[in-house]
Amino acid sequence: MVVEETKYFKQFDIKFSTLGIGLHEFVLNIDKTFFLKHANDEIKDADIQICLTVHKSETMAVFDFDLKGTLIVSCDICLEDLTYPIHIKEELILKTSQEHRESEDENIAYVNPNEHQYNVEQFLYEVLYASLPMRKTHPEMNQTCNDIMIQYLEKSSQSTKPEIDPRWEALKEIHL
Ligand SMILES: [Zn+2]
Repeated sequence: MVVEETKYFKQFDIKFSTLGIGLHEFVLNIDKTFFLKHANDEIKDADIQICLTVHKSETMAVFDFDLKGTLIVSCDICLEDLTYPIHIKEELILKTSQEHRESEDENIAYVNPNEHQYNVEQFLYEVLYASLPMRKTHPEMNQTCNDIMIQYLEKSSQSTKPEIDPRWEALKEIHL
């Protein structure tokens, strides 16, 4: 990874152990660079601002994420870029545990008391990915499809239709 990327990804390491008891705010940003590491076939680009409020207490840290911005995905109809606005609120509770524990709840994570920071990249990636609808189209987002692309796609799908070899057709008739 180049230096700039390493620097970019540093923002997702939340150093919770040095935080005092109380509320702390962070601003994170997700853009194209994020998906260099978290490759995704569906998300082509993004511009998302995340306000993260960390509520630190004696026994745990509660991360409140407020994600707002846009994702660029492909339209299912015309395949052109589709701007998909998002505004999501998610909570992640960080608890300390002496022994290694896997959390069954996706909004709860366990960390060893010796850990000083927690990386929120994977959590954010999953939140974004889960926000995508099954069907992503311009009309559903009150946007207009690219007509030229649709015409082009229709033409190319017609020309690639397999043609039945007339000799096979003739053979079939003989066997019948
Ligand atoms: Zn479209």
